[in-house]
Parts: sequence; C-alpha cells; structure tokens
Amino acid sequence: MFSEKKTFHIIGGGLAGLSAAKFIRKKHQKARIIIYEAASHLGGRCFSFYDEKLQRNIDNATHAVLGANKEVKKLLGKEKFFSKIFLLKDKQIHSRFWQEIPFLLLSIFNTAPQKIAKSLLISTACKLFPFLPPQRKFYFSQGNLSAKLIEPLAGFADEIKTGWVLQKISKQENKITTLKFNHQDVKLGANDIVISALDAKQYQLIFGGPQFDFNPIINIYFRTSVPLTLPNNIPFLGTPDNLADWIFINQDIVAVTISDSQNIQLKDEELARRIWQEIRAVNGLTPAFLPPYRVMRHQRATICQDEKNQALRPTSAQTSYQNLFICGDWTMKNYPCCLEAAIKSAQRIIKEI
Ligand SMILES: Cc1cc2nc3c(=O)[nH]c(=O)nc-3n(C[C@H](O)[C@H](O)[C@H](O)COP(=O)(O)OP(=O)(O)OC[C@H]3O[C@@H](n4cnc5c(N)ncnc54)[C@H](O)[C@@H]3O)c2cc1C
Repeated sequence: MFSEKKTFHIIGGGLAGLSAAKFIRKKHQKARIIIYEAASHLGGRCFSFYDEKLQRNIDNATHAVLGANKEVKKLLGKEKFFSKIFLLKDKQIHSRFWQEIPFLLLSIFNTAPQKIAKSLLISTACKLFPFLPPQRKFYFSQGNLSAKLIEPLAGFADEIKTGWVLQKISKQENKITTLKFNHQDVKLGANDIVISALDAKQYQLIFGGPQFDFNPIINIYFRTSVPLTLPNNIPFLGTPDNLADWIFINQDIVAVTISDSQNIQLKDEELARRIWQEIRAVNGLTPAFLPPYRVMRHQRATICQDEKNQALRPTSAQTSYQNLFICGDWTMKNYPCCLEAAIKSAQRIIKEI
C-alpha cells in the first residue's frame, strides 16, 4: 500500500535547526528533511566570514565553550579545549575562578548576575557540579565557527533552501496546513512535521507566543601588524576590572567580548580606542596607534535570563499545533542560552515527536 513519505520542514538553519536535521536523520532514515533559512548563509548567530577590512576569516561573534558542554565538545573534538580559565584581577593573572563567580555568571548568562533567575542558576550549577578540571577546560572559536560546527551538519538535510524567509502560516484547527515563504507557499502533507528552529523574536512574530526581552553583546576584532601575545603566552584572558570582559588571541587577530553591553554608549571608534588601551595595558604598554578594527553589535544576542523571561520559556518541544515542534537555545528552560542548549533542544525534539 502506498504511504506518503514524511517530510520534516525545519525553519531556521542555525545550530539548533542543523542539529535537528542530524538527530531526525538518525531516527527516521527514510524521511525527507528540508531546511529553510532566511539568510544567505547557515549558522544563524554562529558563523564565520571573510572580513574585507581585516582581510581575515573572523567569527560573527567569538564563541567560548566550557568542557562541561558535552554536546558541543562532541562536535569540536576534545583536543580543541585549552587547559584553564585565566583571569586578570588587580593586575595579577590567576586561575582562581571561584573568586570571580559574578563575572563568570555574567559571561555564561549574558545577564547581570543579580538579575539571573534563581531556578536557572540552580539547574546550571547542578549540571556543572562538581566542576572538575576537564569540565573547566575552555575553547574559543578562531574564525572557524562555520568550519567546525556548521558545515559538518549541513549534509544531514536532503535540501537546504537559503534566502527562504517564512512570513506566515495557514492553519486548520490545531494543525498548520501551509508555510508561506517569500518565494512560494509550501502545502503540508498529512504526515508532515514542522520544526521551528527560529530565534525567540521570529518565533513570536510568526507563530505567536510570549514576547521576550533581549540582551546585547559587543564583539570587537583588531588586526595587529605582528601577532600579539598575552603574559605567559596565554591564549585568552578574562578581565573583570575592564570594559572588555574577555580578550582572545588568534595570531594577528585580537578579539574582545563585552557581555550584556546595553549600557555602553560609546561610538565604534571611541570604543575601539578604549578597548585597545586596555589590551595594551595588560602587557604594561601604552597604545602606540589604533590598528584596523571591526566592531560588531548584536542587539538580540540572547534573551535576558531573568525571572520574568525565564518564566516565559517553554517546558517542552511540543506546541499547541499538533504538527509543530520547537527547538532553539531559548526553548531549553533549564539551560543558559548557548550552543549547548541549541543542540540539546534539537535532541529533545526526537524524544517528543
Ligand atoms: C555575540 C554573541 C556571542 C555569543 N557567545 C556565545 C558563547 O561564547 N558560547 C555559546 O555557547 N554561545 C554563545 N552565543 C549564543 C549562541 O550563538 C546561540 O545560543 C546559538 O547560536 C543559538 O542557535 P539557534 O540555532 O538556537 O538560533 P539562531 O542561531 O538564532 O538560529 C535561528 C535561525 O533562524 C533563521 N531565521 C530567522 N527568521 C527566519 C524566518 N522568518 N524564516 C527562515 N529562517 C529564519 C535565522 O537566520 C537563523 O539562522 C553567542 C551569541 C551571540 C549573538
């Protein structure tokens, strides 16, 4: 008897959408999987590109990952992880991370430490406990986010349609019947499943649901004339006393991350100058001149992870539509919004479909 082949329509080609394709392929080998991505590239908030000004491959945002993030570690390979977290406090470099817990919480949750939802703090602490040395190992992206995390996942879908923007849906009772894209409408078969791997803002606009608040992150990249080093040749440094939170060295590219950056009013050049001064001061030097730089401001880097927004996060991948499931970093209520949460959310879909 003829039975219609099931198609999984994944909306959004970020890490969550691509991971969903991978997990679905493992479970439903014969299913058809299509990813629709609005941008011209895959990866969402996590991709690399060639920057014409710096003439180097850079990441749209330097991503840092702890060894405790097992799913990301599987994709990266554990040899990619450095040994320790280094911090600069009162002009001394040390590895006593427990002395800077509020600073680390700000980096993990992209939310002022005093505002972070208590339930989220507890669930994250339980996942990290006992935080042994292998869990504390640290990775940061070096212009290779796409190559390391995104491209290896692209092969799991049968078709990837970039430049396809989902604009609306049609529904009948509790089922979605048509996906309306900028290019054309896609009518759903009776067995088809839709997976939203959208960010929280786009999900709300298209499917409805709660409105989240977002926190920004600023990333700044400098290209130096000769490769810069940090004291003791360490590759990255947390600087809680500075405007820059983290400084990462990748040969002649120095990358800086500033979390929860909404209070920073400085224009690009002023900000770059100030941060460059801080970087030079770490080595006890005064800044000679400002090297070429790129400032990237991500207004909706993550949802704000305070009590109000935590209460809005879903507890399951199933939605009120029978044929719609959700994934994405913001959908994993008990995780900080990060790469690990994006992958975990895709894994959860498989359990719930
Ligand atoms: C500046 C910055 C720094 C970060 N630093 C870290 C870090 O150090 N460590 C870490 O683990 N995480 C970090 N993150 C978070 C991490 O990037 C995200 O958690 C992760 O990439 C989320 O993946 P996602 O697939 O859930 O969402 P997204 O990557 O947002 O994917 C959603 C996709 O949906 C697409 N889309 C949107 N609207 C439509 C539409 N209408 N139709 C079709 N497609 C659509 C988007 O283009 C996008 O590709 C950072 C994020 C930012 C922005």
